[in-house]
Amino acid sequence: MSASQTPTAADELRGAGLRVTAARVALLETVRGGDHLGIEAIAVGVRDRVGHISLQAVYEALHALAAAGLIRRIEPAGGAPRFEGRVGDNHHHVVCRSCGVVADVDCAVGEAPCLTASDDHGFSINEAEVVYWGLCPSCSTARTS
Ligand SMILES: [Zn+2]
Ligand SMILES: [Zn+2]
Repeated sequence: MSASQTPTAADELRGAGLRVTAARVALLETVRGGDHLGIEAIAVGVRDRVGHISLQAVYEALHALAAAGLIRRIEPAGGAPRFEGRVGDNHHHVVCRSCGVVADVDCAVGEAPCLTASDDHGFSINEAEVVYWGLCPSCSTARTS
């Protein structure tokens, strides 16, 4: 393996033990190129690349890629699931209550799980997920003007 060569999406699928299909490659590229996309937006991106694919097939492929750790699923309370390509760094999210836009927030302090539970109930905790809720800049401008 050459360090100067970044693995392709197909290599990564193979490395994760997944069957490589054009749709899965397109899906991984769409999720990575997007910004916390929902399923419908991802389906549009995949169709742009490989032609028709059913929403159900997109959903199943997303599930397989998320289970393999290639993409991350986030599900803000009361909202539709979103998917992103930034995985493995236990970052958090800020969500706009008004328009639902999502932005990344780096690890709150230090390394994962970022937050030390006051009582771990004997669990070995390795991840914490925080959703900060508020209004994005454009929604807060709209409210005050
Ligand atoms: Zn907003
Ligand atoms: Zn994110």
